[in-house]
Amino acid sequence: MNAVLVAGGGPAGSAAACLLARAGREVTLIEREAAPAHKICGEFLSREAQLYLARLGVDLPALGAQPITHLGLGRGRAMTVAKLPFRGMGLSRRRLDEALLQRAAQTGVRVLRGRTIRSLSVTGGAVTLAVEGMEPVRAATCLLATGKHDLRGARRRLARAADDLVGFKMHLALAPDQRVALRGRVDIAMLRDGYAGLQLIEDGIATLCFLVNRARLRSVGEGWSALLASLQRESPHLGDRLSGAMPLLARPLSIFRVPYGFVHEAAADDPPGLFRLGDQMAVIPSFSGDGISMALHTGFAAAAALLAGGGAAAFHADMRNTLARPVRLASALYHFGSWRLGPWRLGQSALIGLGRLAPAVLQAATGATRVPEAALQPLLAGS
Ligand SMILES: Cc1cc2nc3c(=O)[nH]c(=O)nc-3n(C[C@H](O)[C@H](O)[C@H](O)COP(=O)(O)OP(=O)(O)OC[C@H]3O[C@@H](n4cnc5c(N)ncnc54)[C@H](O)[C@@H]3O)c2cc1C
Repeated sequence: MNAVLVAGGGPAGSAAACLLARAGREVTLIEREAAPAHKICGEFLSREAQLYLARLGVDLPALGAQPITHLGLGRGRAMTVAKLPFRGMGLSRRRLDEALLQRAAQTGVRVLRGRTIRSLSVTGGAVTLAVEGMEPVRAATCLLATGKHDLRGARRRLARAADDLVGFKMHLALAPDQRVALRGRVDIAMLRDGYAGLQLIEDGIATLCFLVNRARLRSVGEGWSALLASLQRESPHLGDRLSGAMPLLARPLSIFRVPYGFVHEAAADDPPGLFRLGDQMAVIPSFSGDGISMALHTGFAAAAALLAGGGAAAFHADMRNTLARPVRLASALYHFGSWRLGPWRLGQSALIGLGRLAPAVLQAATGATRVPEAALQPLLAGS
């Protein structure tokens, strides 16, 4: 039987695996991607994410991460630019997640790549993973870190159905003048049914990531170019940014029905050895740019809990205590932004006005949707 099994090698799983192996635990991590892969994400790294990554030995500047100091918030032609309360960074998930998996392997984690877990079951107090092409793998402790993908036998219990949203990501080579104008900024365009974010990552590449209602797909005819054109028409600022841009991926990455606002609530029948990490524990609306730091936080906290001999129930209660508030606040902001009266999108207008008149309020809201400092510091100090 394995000592600790980690299902999924994203930020949450890799972080926990690294810390446990560093403390001398025997860890096996199973990841379905056989090689570096693109993932759907805005690729914005918050200050908290950067702190956790530094503690794991990930050198973001050496990987080519780009600093981001300002937020451009726009709707239609209107645009307000505010200084971020911290310095963000832009780095592709392909590069980041690979660096984390490499760190895990260097730390002594047994990393199994190109292996898809088909299901999870619990028998006799142990967790069994059915893995494609392998004998079933068993362990008393399993860290479930498969992110947005639920495993058969361990699906997340959602309190409500996920919104009918669809997300896309594309890497782009921008026109040279637009690349220069975007340097140091993340531009968020508020759309009638969602938002689009654009920022630079390594090697001068831009990441465009947006989330819209699925009805828009149907109305524009489902094709990528038609969808992009509809965003550019709605947001002339984005239109300018993307004019002359060349796609760098063969096709965009997409995601449907993200359960924003989900926070795992422990139940009496939860298996004692099963710890939920990252998006399996909580899903913050993506515009907050804090999902990666929350994933890392759960990875650090799970490792600390296990090393202290703690169980899953106490860990889940602790994570809920820490993460429910920022998730709730980000969800409230998201819904406030969608508030409309007839044809008027009052929520978006209010956010733009707030950004202009009281940037400190916007900055405070940005700060309140993050992993709280009081929860972050002890984990950093103890790792
Ligand atoms: C549209 C969008 C934009 C976002 N933008 C940002 C942003 O800019 N900044 C930010 O901080 N957060 C952002 N997020 C949130 C962020 O992407 C997630 O919160 C974060 O990736 C969660 O990390 P994780 O480790 O839990 O899961 P993931 O990153 O999803 O990693 C899970 C891992 O498990 C593996 N896996 C899955 N299923 C299996 C299986 N069956 N068998 C084996 N392996 C498996 C996957 O290959 C993957 O490597 C965004 C989310 C969305 C949807």
